[in-house]
Amino acid sequence: MAQLTELLEYTNKLLEIDRYKDYAPNGLQVEGKAEVNSIVSGVTASRALIDAAIKAGADTVLVHHGYFWKGEDPCLVGMKGQRVRSLIKADLNLLGYHLPLDAHAELGNNIQLAQLLGFELEGRFLGDNETGIGMHGSLSKPLSGEELAAHIAAKLERTPLHIAGNDKPIKRIAWCTGGAQGYIQQAVALGVDAYITGEASEHTVHTARECGLHFFAAGHHATERYGVQALGAHLAEKFGVSHQFIDIENPV
Ligand SMILES: [Zn+2]
Repeated sequence: MAQLTELLEYTNKLLEIDRYKDYAPNGLQVEGKAEVNSIVSGVTASRALIDAAIKAGADTVLVHHGYFWKGEDPCLVGMKGQRVRSLIKADLNLLGYHLPLDAHAELGNNIQLAQLLGFELEGRFLGDNETGIGMHGSLSKPLSGEELAAHIAAKLERTPLHIAGNDKPIKRIAWCTGGAQGYIQQAVALGVDAYITGEASEHTVHTARECGLHFFAAGHHATERYGVQALGAHLAEKFGVSHQFIDIENPV
């Protein structure tokens, strides 16, 4: 069992939340029970995840995509009202960590994806060398575009969208989990052979073709399943609380 205040203070410090200019608040977004015994983690604080957490008897929900995003209607009505009402009725805490959980050097989405796919980290981009959310590095041996696509599909259990900007083998790669297709030009500037992110836009395809690099959209949800799991497992070990990751299937 852990005190919420203690767990929160530890996690906020661990993820260095003050170093990031984010689009949503990081940390405690909705307050419930003062004592934490059981954490359910998930990618997004959707209604389905909240219902599953209630069913699992959790007192705390830990997510990568929480609420209160910049620019959205702040009122607790409609879908958002329903979600928050469900949390409050069940006395659940909601902890959300966005960019700090993309970037963390051991528990973050990007390093966790790299470990899963066997990428060797050489540096970061989209920020400085400690907080940059994008990473670049290399494959242990060169792969063709088709081979890398098959490797990603096997590990993430989801077939990626692959745009072959050239037919050369891939050695140097850049990656950024989630909806980071807008940073493809920054990946081009790194001189890598391939860029991997979660989603694609119409124009991403043309950029990949015209700039001659392989582009992979491996799934926003699929690429961001790993940070929150690593963080949940870490907190469970540190505080002696239970943790389970609940995957709410999402093809995007
Ligand atoms: Zn995301």
